[in-house]
Amino acid sequence: MIAVYPGSFDPITLGHVDIIKRALNIFDGLVVLVTENPRKKYLFSLDERKKLVESALKNVDRVRIDVHRGLLVNYLKKHGIKVLVRGLRAVTDYEYELQMALANKKLYSELETVFLTASEKFSFVSSSLVKEVAMYGGDVTEWVPSEVARALYEKLKEGK
Ligand code: ADP
Repeated sequence: MIAVYPGSFDPITLGHVDIIKRALNIFDGLVVLVTENPRKKYLFSLDERKKLVESALKNVDRVRIDVHRGLLVNYLKKHGIKVLVRGLRAVTDYEYELQMALANKKLYSELETVFLTASEKFSFVSSSLVKEVAMYGGDVTEWVPSEVARALYEKLKEGK
């Protein structure tokens, strides 16, 4: 069975990579879907986010990377995929994730959302934390793949 792991991945962190590897222990294949929501402001463009996901997963088999703008369930229906993977870090994620899972189920009744718990090693890591720490010159190399750390420092240098 193939599942989809959707997210902003702005940028991808080792927390995301951990969820991806664990999802691959359960599913035959995984589509990592980089999404674009017009209401969100991103540091990296959709194309940059996709390229960083590709470089982070270059040695990982059975994974496909794709991008999508618009309603997630439209992508799932179009590709005949009925399982969504999401990660849960702390109770603070729960309310939002529950709301999305229920809404998606309403929009696509055959869909199931599977939650994987974050590894405690990365449970405090988020893309926003990584951006904030990098912005102030802090070391993020233990939280993101090396290409992402490089891209972050480059991007923040450009912005100055
Ligand atoms: P979105 O904007 O769709 O929430 P994110 O890239 O922030 O996109 O997150 C995608 C998914 O990955 C979410 O389910 C989120 O809870 C999960 N996630 C993010 N960081 C981690 C982490 N460190 N460990 C486990 N799951 C995580």
